[in-house]
Amino acid sequence: MKSFTTRSLHIPFPKKDPHNALAMPVYESVAFEFASSEDIAANFRGELPAHTYSRTSNPTVEYFETKIKALTGAHHALAVSSGMAAISATMMAICKQGDNIISGKHLFGHSLALLEQSLSAYGMETRFVDTTQTEQIEALIDSNTRAIYFETVTNPQLEIADISRLADIADKHGILLIADSTITPPSVFSSKSLGVHIEVMSTTKFISGGATAVGGLILDNGLYDWNQNPNCQPLTQKFGKDAFVARLRKNYYRNFGMPMTAHSANYMIAGLDILELRVERCYQNCLKLGKYFQENPKVTRVDYPGLKDSAYYDLARKQFGGIPGSVMTFDLGSQAECFRFMNRLKIIRRATNLNDNKSLIIHPYSTIYTEFPESERAKMGIRPTMMRLSVGIEGAEDLIADMEQALS
Ligand SMILES: *Cc1c(COP(=O)(O)O)cnc(C)c1O
Repeated sequence: MKSFTTRSLHIPFPKKDPHNALAMPVYESVAFEFASSEDIAANFRGELPAHTYSRTSNPTVEYFETKIKALTGAHHALAVSSGMAAISATMMAICKQGDNIISGKHLFGHSLALLEQSLSAYGMETRFVDTTQTEQIEALIDSNTRAIYFETVTNPQLEIADISRLADIADKHGILLIADSTITPPSVFSSKSLGVHIEVMSTTKFISGGATAVGGLILDNGLYDWNQNPNCQPLTQKFGKDAFVARLRKNYYRNFGMPMTAHSANYMIAGLDILELRVERCYQNCLKLGKYFQENPKVTRVDYPGLKDSAYYDLARKQFGGIPGSVMTFDLGSQAECFRFMNRLKIIRRATNLNDNKSLIIHPYSTIYTEFPESERAKMGIRPTMMRLSVGIEGAEDLIADMEQALS
């Protein structure tokens, strides 16, 4: 079976349901009982795998992880409470005080804050570079470098790095390549086939099926020798290829307490089944809107890597089958024009999320990036004239009509 959707719909449950339910039941139960004291002791020794307590694992969450593993070919998938939990747990599992990672500055705002403020307080350093300029990266790598971290499509700059080249550099130095693939969900992107070792994503966005629940995922593609990471190496003797996930599950997922809930997992499971359909519809809408923007004289600039004249079009085709998500940006003459336009919109909503079923618009300069000084915003490519549009699944004609009346 080749189709993402066919596969998603027919992935078996880890255990047969006693009632032959076709949809995975939502196990809203914190604890799970054992038949005997001997069994529970064996479970705690790691000899009898079973669910015990929903902060460590849960059957509904496990089914979501099972689906993701089957759909992506990842060696392991761990579902967590949010995209930020996925990123922070991963960084903590691979780094300790004195270690560093290399990353671009063009990152989701809270990821940048995590690296610059939260993790640096624990002595973990981030060395910033333009990840689309791969030749700058090697100069920053030293014996304490543990990873290169990047976003598959940066938001809101919509830049795309050459992932195979990043993978070559990471492999040459024995360090990890970690991708945040939130913008390009698994129906269009296979991180494993491009040599990414660890993939993290916010399932809040595309996967939740329309902005219904917060969640995140950590995938270990099984491509990395964990003996090369000093923080995971001590676990390789006992856990082999599972060293990272073993460290992650106990020290971070369990001890920091960042589980996905069964209720959220239920949304994610349902969202996966219609993901491919939604992404395709959003993409078609992006193409139609792109054409509309390009032909409208009031729009001074439009960026979407799925458009033929984008500098990243070829990479978008190679890495995401031509579907680089459904976030686009466009510019009007001034901030005042942007505000007027946004205030007049009737269908497109003013909100800060991405990949809802509804189209969402925001003016990043005055919102998400307002805490950065103007010079920083300029360096980050955040223009006062730019709006970010997360294109939804409405009819393209309705979206264009809404734009048209708001621009008039
Ligand atoms: C939203 C987002 C995150 C954070 O995800 P949450 O689920 O909100 O914690 C991380 N990376 C990217 C690229 C995002 O868009």
